Amino acid sequence: MTEYEAVIGLETHIQLNTTTKIFCSCKADSWFDPPNTNVCPVCTGLPGVLPVLNEKVVEKGALLAHAMHAELRPVSFFDRKNYFYPDLPKGYQISQYDMALAHGGYLDVPMPQGYTRRVGIWKLHLEEDAGKTRNERNQRLIDFNRCGVPLVEMVTGPDLRSADEAAQYLIRLRQLLRWLGVSEADMEKAHLRCDANVSIRPKGADYLNPKTEIKNVNSIDAVRNAINSEVERQIREVEAGRRVEAWTLDWDEDTGVLRKMRSKETEADYRYFREPDLLPVYLTDEWKAAILADFPELPLERRARFIEQYGLPEYDAEILTAERKLSDYYENAVKAYGGDPKKVSNWLMNDVLRMINERGLAPDQMKLSPAFLAEILKLVDAGTINNSTGKALLVKVEESGQSPAAIVQAEGLAKVSDDAAIRAACQEVLAENPKEVESFRGGKETLMGWFVGQVMRKMRGKADAALAKKILEELLG
Ligand SMILES: [Zn+2]
Repeated sequence: MTEYEAVIGLETHIQLNTTTKIFCSCKADSWFDPPNTNVCPVCTGLPGVLPVLNEKVVEKGALLAHAMHAELRPVSFFDRKNYFYPDLPKGYQISQYDMALAHGGYLDVPMPQGYTRRVGIWKLHLEEDAGKTRNERNQRLIDFNRCGVPLVEMVTGPDLRSADEAAQYLIRLRQLLRWLGVSEADMEKAHLRCDANVSIRPKGADYLNPKTEIKNVNSIDAVRNAINSEVERQIREVEAGRRVEAWTLDWDEDTGVLRKMRSKETEADYRYFREPDLLPVYLTDEWKAAILADFPELPLERRARFIEQYGLPEYDAEILTAERKLSDYYENAVKAYGGDPKKVSNWLMNDVLRMINERGLAPDQMKLSPAFLAEILKLVDAGTINNSTGKALLVKVEESGQSPAAIVQAEGLAKVSDDAAIRAACQEVLAENPKEVESFRGGKETLMGWFVGQVMRKMRGKADAALAKKILEELLG
């Protein structure tokens, strides 16, 4: 039996998070707005209007291109892509064609199995979005809000070999877009849309078979499911001696079924020509330098540095660099603390991250600042408070905004390591629980933990647990 491998390329449309649209001053993100409320003569293509390029679109596009290791062109052009569709009022889309903002590039995608897949970028250009049609009660409704929303179209080479690899690519791309601050990259809100080109071939072959294009796969799970389903279908076709035709398929997430849409347009059908209403984009050296002036350390670089510099396990480094603000939080806390970076990671990944998620906050919105987290860790290290008081303090600081030291002072939370006070509490516990004392002396030594717990309860969590255990051992003989 022949073994097959999938050959997958992804075409993504990324909505840049500019305030206004690409060629007019209408609001760009209309997700929460009623249909046709963010429109004007320019984006609805009325006669006699002229587009004006939003420079923020070029800047965000250039940041993304740079992060993808693409080469920025000093001069690029906009072109008209002509096609007729009800949601495209001009009858053409302003896009870029042969002289796009950038060319080349790649994204390295680490896979959970341990290897890294380098995914080549074949196309990276700016364009405007079209509107949206919707079928409702036998009517075809059109919403022009999305017309003129700035997009980057990015097309990869056929470099991905499975549905899981395609999913990982999207996960890393989404992380990168948010990290750079160029897109919210929320697939549910169509900030990041994906089409997949899929073909199969015998494993190890180096030629390409005809591919199908799957449209409308708008979540990571949908990408995985749609590709898996299409790869299986193509294998069935080939095994049955049929040819795979170059169809365009529509993925229906609800039913998990691929439907044939139409045969694919070819490039010639679009009759591209230079957009005569826009000037070339001159990305001068000064402008480029200004855009890239505070280009950030990228997530995978930071992940590697966290492992190297702080001795973190890969697992920790991955979680801490999932989001830029979280990784900044971690690093600021490590600096303020000055102690073991792994300890900061433990507290952050367990308790602090849970608070962040439960409260729906961004790390930089926390009242529990990195400096306050560091202060709590220092109080624990100095023996002023015990571990569990420290954990409780995280919440108290977050809720009050007061410094940890002030709360310890005000609430008398400092650890009691006074031998006499703990000894008295231990004696009380033993006197109150003669049955347990008997069992313990009879050999049930696991009761020690329970005794310590009782002492801690008596002292409202403030006792030095290690000292309590020592005294109990002594009293129990
Ligand atoms: Zn407009």
